[in-house]
Amino acid sequence: MPEYNVCANCGMQFGLALSECPKCKWPAPGREEERRLEEQRREEERKRFEELIVTASPGVEGYLVTKYIDLVSAEVVVGTGIFSEFSASFFDFFGGRIGAFEKKFAQAKEAALTKLRWAAIAQGANAVICAKLDYENVGDRNLLMVVASGTAVLVEPSSAASGEIED
Ligand SMILES: [Zn+2]
Repeated sequence: MPEYNVCANCGMQFGLALSECPKCKWPAPGREEERRLEEQRREEERKRFEELIVTASPGVEGYLVTKYIDLVSAEVVVGTGIFSEFSASFFDFFGGRIGAFEKKFAQAKEAALTKLRWAAIAQGANAVICAKLDYENVGDRNLLMVVASGTAVLVEPSSAASGEIED
């Protein structure tokens, strides 16, 4: 048994416990298949993430809900930083500070929705219906929690299911 791996790409020697070359990230000898499967799995997850439907409606137009999986939610806490400084000038408050806060807030909403999508995917869903965003103050007034929630479901195009569903 060799005592170390030799990178097939750059020739670097590295420990047997490592699954990839620390220098160029090439898979260690014998780990190529594992790497390929891992990349395939990540690619499939990315695809599911991109294809996941998120809607505020209780259904998706053109689709039938075939399974209600579970409620999903995701929280992101954001520091507002706008209530602490009473000395803030009028201009700052309605100009720069609010602008910066709105930007932070938009990022927090985006982050909460991203977390919600991953939570739904982890549940095996391909859509989230009744999705909504809520806002709550946490602790003191300078922290705001953005909560994204909805119902994780499985949907399929209704044309494929028509004829099989009977009322
Ligand atoms: Zn290497």
